Amino acid sequence: MRYDLASMTRPELAQLCERWGERPFRAKQLFGWIQQKGARSIDEMTDLPKTLRARLAEEAALTVLTPRRRQASRTDGTIKYLFELPDGETIETVRMVYRHGVSLCLSTQVGCRMGCAFCASGIGGLRRHLTPGEILGQIRAVMADTGERPDSLVLMGIGEPLDNYDNVLRFLELLADPEGFGMSHRHLSLSTCGVVPRIYDLARLHLQLTLSVSLHAPNDRIRGGIMPVNHRWGIDELLEACRYYADETHRRISFEYAVIEGVNDSKACADELRRRLSGMLCHVNLIPLNRVEERQFVSGRAVAERFAALLGDSLSVTIRRTLGADIDAACGQLRRADAREKAEG
Ligand code: SAH
Repeated sequence: MRYDLASMTRPELAQLCERWGERPFRAKQLFGWIQQKGARSIDEMTDLPKTLRARLAEEAALTVLTPRRRQASRTDGTIKYLFELPDGETIETVRMVYRHGVSLCLSTQVGCRMGCAFCASGIGGLRRHLTPGEILGQIRAVMADTGERPDSLVLMGIGEPLDNYDNVLRFLELLADPEGFGMSHRHLSLSTCGVVPRIYDLARLHLQLTLSVSLHAPNDRIRGGIMPVNHRWGIDELLEACRYYADETHRRISFEYAVIEGVNDSKACADELRRRLSGMLCHVNLIPLNRVEERQFVSGRAVAERFAALLGDSLSVTIRRTLGADIDAACGQLRRADAREKAEG
């Protein structure tokens, strides 16, 4: 096994340098090359001695993502990328433009095992976790294309971040390191379908990130019908974990609710949702569902607006803008399209 340089923290690189008999400041240089300057090869690290570079080339690897496809919206600045990983797997990353700046939507796994009925990412199941370096590498790869530093990040691409908990935590550590990318967790949202034990673990770390929870239904019957994870951890357990998270971190939770016609958009659903969330430090983000070719669900802005009106103003509610409507911008769709085309030759 080669050392995975892009996934190593500063203390780990310091240990490696020490083991190799290198001076301590080499670790700092190495970390700066990888995490701050975004070096794409060991050869670029010209202020490291040749002997060290040779040993790194032999025993270590620097993860670099290769752009395979790129779709740019003609109307709203959204760019969707399909990146190839060192082992040939592919993932998606999306650049979005909001009033407060540029945001990148990052993937955390290749595929997903959560199996939500409306989502394209889970169709082929989980292939593997992404390494911390591969999660970060998406930021680098987009920056190489656009030349701009993103203002915020959302872990809402392919995969379930809390199903890849250790690597996501390490990514968060690398991201915030002032000698690395240096981005505060305040600029990051992590979205989960509700892996309850990991919500408690995360709460205890008191990070400053925003937790988004994909709720999508007000009760177990409806949620169980579209999100298999609900059979493992029901809605009461999930909301209890969310209350604990909000109490522990004092951070407002954001609930995602994809409004689907005839499934979760009735007045009874709105009433039940309001009742369930009353008194919690939270915000509800209504999502017009993106159409997925393999799935039959009806949604749209009008459906979301109707549901927002049913909720009234006792909850803090917004409707998510639909970006990249002219490209395959929903999670997992570009990767699916690529796989389909390959299968068809
Ligand atoms: N696994 C995590 C993060 C990735 S999904 C989670 O479930 O939260 C990011 C968000 O996109 C989730 O809220 C998810 O439910 C939603 N989503 C999935 N498919 C969608 C679709 N076709 N249209 C709109 N949102 C979708």
